[in-house]
Amino acid sequence: MEIPLTISSTQEALKRKKIKAVELVDAYLARINSLNSRLNCFLTVSEESAYTKARKVDKLIEDFKEKAFDDYPLLGTCVSYKDLFLTEGIRTTAGSKVLESFVPAYSATYVDRVNKAGGITLGKTNCDAWAHGASGENSDFGPTKNPWNLDYVPGGSSSGSAASVASNLTLWASGTDTGGSIRQPANFCGVVGFKPTYGAVSRYGVVAMASSLDSMGHFTKCVDDAERIFNVTKGEDGKDGTVKNAKFTMPNARLRLGIPEEYFIGGIDKEVEENVRKAAKVFESEGIELVKVSLPHTKYAISVYYIIQPAEVSSNLGRYDGIRYGNQRESFGEEAKRRIMLGTYVLSAGYYDAYYLKAMQVRSKIIQDFEMAFKKVDLIIAPVSPTPAFKLGQKASDPLQMYLADILTVAGNLAGIPGLALPSGFTKAGLPLGFQLLGPRFSEYVLFELGKLYERAVDYKPNVREI
Ligand code: GLN
Repeated sequence: MEIPLTISSTQEALKRKKIKAVELVDAYLARINSLNSRLNCFLTVSEESAYTKARKVDKLIEDFKEKAFDDYPLLGTCVSYKDLFLTEGIRTTAGSKVLESFVPAYSATYVDRVNKAGGITLGKTNCDAWAHGASGENSDFGPTKNPWNLDYVPGGSSSGSAASVASNLTLWASGTDTGGSIRQPANFCGVVGFKPTYGAVSRYGVVAMASSLDSMGHFTKCVDDAERIFNVTKGEDGKDGTVKNAKFTMPNARLRLGIPEEYFIGGIDKEVEENVRKAAKVFESEGIELVKVSLPHTKYAISVYYIIQPAEVSSNLGRYDGIRYGNQRESFGEEAKRRIMLGTYVLSAGYYDAYYLKAMQVRSKIIQDFEMAFKKVDLIIAPVSPTPAFKLGQKASDPLQMYLADILTVAGNLAGIPGLALPSGFTKAGLPLGFQLLGPRFSEYVLFELGKLYERAVDYKPNVREI
């Protein structure tokens, strides 16, 4: 059986009785069983609950026919969650030995909403422990491999989510993006990665990394799917005080796309740069005006991020004391310990003003940069990462090199703006290439519109890697 690759084609097949939800679960589980030992995408497979839900889905379709799909917009879609999202009754580890046997008593709002919309949970995906990382190599359960080349990293920290979508072990997967952890692995694996505006989607029930930066998004095989899922996950839940039912900007007739000069500076890989410039040309030939913009404080973004983020990490990880949850604090890995120490240092008396406060001031400058740029343009196009996927082990022993992999993504988190990473071809060596679109806060629907325009213009077909 051929597995449909998008939400619309999956639901079309279910409606026309070409397939049953139970058969979809059969098909994905068969792929997981045959490929997961090589890719290490899944930490937990929730086979039994997947079948229980699939039978319910089939019954709903039997009873209510087409109407079922109006009432349940994600009906019959198989999803896997980054192992940071609490799932009631299904183990949630955050990629760390600290939570190795933690089974949550409730689900994250995001998960709840997807469940209620008819999603079928296949399992939980591997990630860098506590979402600290850019390669997946910080997982306490071993690294995930990039399906396009098993010697390469899939990106991180949402490594298993990106790789499982790219190798079609799941229709779609959730992720968290604190400094790039959705957009960068999407870019390395050749799938669509969507990071919403900070405050558009509830963080309730997702293991916190850095609370002023975390945003909950997803990996899909096309932009339309990203939009459909966002329609379900967005909006107030009364449990995350930063989420409001915002008014979203809608696309206007004449869109302008900004090219930030600071994102094309030295050190960026030639193939990556050429690919983004080519994508910009595609937009231009579709009647979109390209405008040069400047984001002058970009050069400080990594430094600011690596002060604010560890400060918040050190506070958030304080709750894992071995009494209320999981194992003792000795079980924290090297990277978590490094961040707890860094964070505690920048927050301590005497250093707070010099580091944390200063970083917060520069964060405001970064926010203002974007505000100025978005007076001139509707969206920005930029590379996601300075290089395509790198080899396993290549940066693992050098934290600073690893941190630099986020140089083009962290500013978006510091400003709380949405981003959409799109695949746009391959390197000569056969590794995925792509670009990101960034927009002002709550411009998600403009991002989707432009993303879909790009897909139509290049006659995009989802990438699925058979290994
Ligand atoms: N790679 C970045 C870091 O290690 C981003 C992580 C993330 O977005 N969760 O901090």
